[in-house]
Amino acid sequence: TDSDAADEAVRATCDDASSCKRFATSKGYWSDPYIQYFVRQAGERKAPEINRGYYARVQGMSHLLEAFIRRTEGNCQVVNLGAGLDTNFWRLKDGNLLPKKYFEVDFPMIVARKIHNIKTKPPLSKSLIETHSTDSLMMDGHSLDSDRFCIVAADLRDVLDMEDKLKKFQLDPGLPTLFLSECVMVYMTPEQSSRLVRWASDTFHTAMFINYEQVNMADRFGQVMIENLQRRQCTLAGADTCQSLDSQKERFLNAGWESADALDMMTVYGLLPQEDVARIERLEFLDEKELLQQLLQHYCISWAFKDKLRLGTSTAGF
Ligand code: SAM
Repeated sequence: TDSDAADEAVRATCDDASSCKRFATSKGYWSDPYIQYFVRQAGERKAPEINRGYYARVQGMSHLLEAFIRRTEGNCQVVNLGAGLDTNFWRLKDGNLLPKKYFEVDFPMIVARKIHNIKTKPPLSKSLIETHSTDSLMMDGHSLDSDRFCIVAADLRDVLDMEDKLKKFQLDPGLPTLFLSECVMVYMTPEQSSRLVRWASDTFHTAMFINYEQVNMADRFGQVMIENLQRRQCTLAGADTCQSLDSQKERFLNAGWESADALDMMTVYGLLPQEDVARIERLEFLDEKELLQQLLQHYCISWAFKDKLRLGTSTAGF
């Protein structure tokens, strides 16, 4: 059906994201020893502005993720919504920054692929085994569960089913919780993403939600981005929420979050450690500075807090 085809196009975005990340790491933009086990080849060359954009995305998201884990001293859980082939779990483990438990949710087809890779690549399974107390890990085609890492297959548009599955694997509403969604909610309608964001604020009293996606989509450049995706059968169903930084914040504030903030990626790029930015700017010559600027102005990180336990998690922003 049409909706199957649309979901398939959305699932394909996961390969795009991973192969761009793989390429940028092969050029030295940042280090990720694990992505090679999910994406075999660095693949075709990506333009320097794309690599810099991914650099800002990955560094910006990691900055907020690590700040939350430090603030809660690891006494928290992380739920990555639409995680795709993300490697955060392994990188956090290497950095001694694992939360009590790290959860991932994605479509069954993506989850099955991810679990297959984990099962067959020792550098991936090693970290799971090392952080697990018994000698048996729960793993089937559609879910994986261990002491510190859990993957479930669910549709983010069916929040109750997802909640059921996560609770079966000990997702704990009493624990400070960080939600991540990186280029995910934009593929859902504003109603669907609002429902997801509301579920998170209704269910968890001390939480942070970090979202990365397109913004400022109403202008000419934004329209071209939308058309390019449509040419590949991919619809930005959430384009309305991506009108402005304000609409990004409103999605959270209208759904019960106490405070919300949003920055476009041009601003985030300027807030990253400038020594490292100078390093990556030397990696590849970039002719079209303006193109990079436009690109970065059309993506944003938004985040929201609830802090009933008064942990001061709201200082975990930028
Ligand atoms: N977050 C990863 C990253 O940034 O590398 C993957 C991003 S990819 C662009 C979008 C991911 O969201 C895909 O893996 C896709 O399968 C997942 N996704 C989108 N809509 C979803 C839904 N309704 N239910 C579950 N997963 C979904």
